[in-house]
Amino acid sequence: MIDWFNYAAGNHRVTCPACGRGDRDRTLGLTIEAAGNGVSHCFRCEYTESHRPDRGTWIGSSVKPLITVTASIKHARLRTNCPKLGWRSL
Ligand SMILES: [Zn+2]
Repeated sequence: MIDWFNYAAGNHRVTCPACGRGDRDRTLGLTIEAAGNGVSHCFRCEYTESHRPDRGTWIGSSVKPLITVTASIKHARLRTNCPKLGWRSL
């Protein structure tokens, strides 16, 4: 597991927790956004790990589709809350 709180926002190269052979073996690309969300991907073994301040840390990339689904649900809800016909009649 990556100790996400050790890193500032930006791009880093760190040792892969899955295949890393030591401190100098940095195959894991790590990106941290200003908001604190982070994603990492190992160029050698395809290991991925993600971190979000509100959701914690998880291993694997299966979360990406989940985020897309959540976003589309929010979008649909917004549409139903904004009836264009009512707005036009004003
Ligand atoms: Zn690796």
